[in-house]
Amino acid sequence: MRRLEPGLKAGRLDAAQYAKNFSDLHPRLGDHEALVASDRCYFCHDAPCMTACPTSIDIPLFIRQISTGNPLGSAKTIFDQNILGGMCARVCPTETLCEEACVRNTAEERPVEIGRLQRYATDIAIEQNRQFYTPAAPTGQTVAVVGAGPAGLACAHRLAMNGHQVTIFDTREKAGGLNEYGIAAYKTTGDFAQTEVDYILSIGRIDVLAGQMLGRDFTLHELQAKFDAVFLGIGLGNVNMLNTEGSHVNGVVDAVEFISNLREAKDKADVPVGRNVVVIGGGMTAIDAAVQAKLLGAENVTICYRRGKEHMNASDFEQDLATSKGVVIRHWLQPKHLDHHGGHVSSIRLEYTHVDNGIMKGTGHVMEIATDQVLVAIGQKLDGTGIESLKLDGNKIAVDAEGRTSIAGVWAGGDCAAGGQDLTVSAVAMGRDAAESINRSLAALSAGASAVA
Ligand SMILES: Cc1cc2nc3c(=O)[nH]c(=O)nc-3n(C[C@H](O)[C@H](O)[C@H](O)COP(=O)(O)OP(=O)(O)OC[C@H]3O[C@@H](n4cnc5c(N)ncnc54)[C@H](O)[C@@H]3O)c2cc1C
Ligand code: SF4
Repeated sequence: MRRLEPGLKAGRLDAAQYAKNFSDLHPRLGDHEALVASDRCYFCHDAPCMTACPTSIDIPLFIRQISTGNPLGSAKTIFDQNILGGMCARVCPTETLCEEACVRNTAEERPVEIGRLQRYATDIAIEQNRQFYTPAAPTGQTVAVVGAGPAGLACAHRLAMNGHQVTIFDTREKAGGLNEYGIAAYKTTGDFAQTEVDYILSIGRIDVLAGQMLGRDFTLHELQAKFDAVFLGIGLGNVNMLNTEGSHVNGVVDAVEFISNLREAKDKADVPVGRNVVVIGGGMTAIDAAVQAKLLGAENVTICYRRGKEHMNASDFEQDLATSKGVVIRHWLQPKHLDHHGGHVSSIRLEYTHVDNGIMKGTGHVMEIATDQVLVAIGQKLDGTGIESLKLDGNKIAVDAEGRTSIAGVWAGGDCAAGGQDLTVSAVAMGRDAAESINRSLAALSAGASAVA
């Protein structure tokens, strides 16, 4: 058996292996495949798939358009509801959303491949740069959008469509939020995140100011004074770190940072990975970090989760994907202590857990795994810098059904706002719906101003 060098090491594989490992997870359907797949749809009158989609895309209609050889019409149907339909087609956990609800999803059958059909239509439109929207006549009103992630982009696009002038501020150099810095590399290959950003921005009336951070370079108060409305789509900027004895040693890394470094690396061969990697967590980030560590050439990758399989936030599909790549998922284990050798993590001790009277507890029994890299994926949280004046709901910004925050003239949506599902598609829905609410509010403002004049 091939033995890998211990410790963090870049370039564990050859170029062909990296290319194979990080190829597209669900490549685009060909024309004939798309026709066959679309033919399986019953075009249900009550379309449960559509109800299950957070952006309420008219799924039977867009599939029908594909089946009649009209992929551009299909793309427009998708973009009417979800301007990031291209990325959502790649990253949505369809197995727990539209495809789970599909009436063909039975013991005997598989659901209609809604995600792959959506990708087929949207890819064609984006490749041909077919623009379906032009901004309405200028309203003369301005909106500041903080955060260029899915929520901010969806909000900005809908505002521009309605004739408003939008300025997006983002602390990072590239727009896209986690589409650019977080989504697993094999879900969005090439430079699709930036291609999609360019496609969205080409509607016009949207300026993006990069390297601009709320709470450091400007305040919420300044934005309110300068713009007619403000939308916050700042995501969850902080991560929970391990609070375990020894967790400060080298080799213990935040999984989101690990994934971001991998996404931004010019060459995957430059990204160091351990030989024995342990991932702590049970959500999508844990799975993505584990799978990508394995694809980078780690010999053993073990996910340790403190509860059972059924409690994991990652879907069955994601868990199966991880195990199919050779990742081992261990349940009912919580980290207790990290040991090191010369300041670099060498092993992790974990305590078995169980549920006692509805409460998860340690059993006192401990096991040990030798490791040279620990990836911590135990959740992200709101960074409150610059938004201290806003009311929170739990640890997110409190919003009403339209995305209005506790301060008049300030809306919020996406991961930073209460009520979302921490998915790309729900961030898009919240950004779009907040834009509609802002639009109504600005229209009422200008109607009031005309009446006074
Ligand atoms: C590792 C990982 C993998 C994921 N995989 C999937 C997946 O496969 N499928 C899926 O549906 N969802 C996935 N998600 C969740 C999904 O990425 C998020 O739900 C989605 O990106 C949220 O969009 P958003 O616009 O609210 O926030 P973000 O995408 O986080 O964007 C927020 C933006 O705001 C900017 N910002 C933050 N603070 C400030 C500030 N103070 N001033 C200015 N700008 C600021 C940030 O730079 C960023 O660009 C994943 C998440 C992670 C962490
Ligand atoms: S539920 Fe399935 S079969 Fe029915 S419209 Fe939706 S995709 Fe088509």
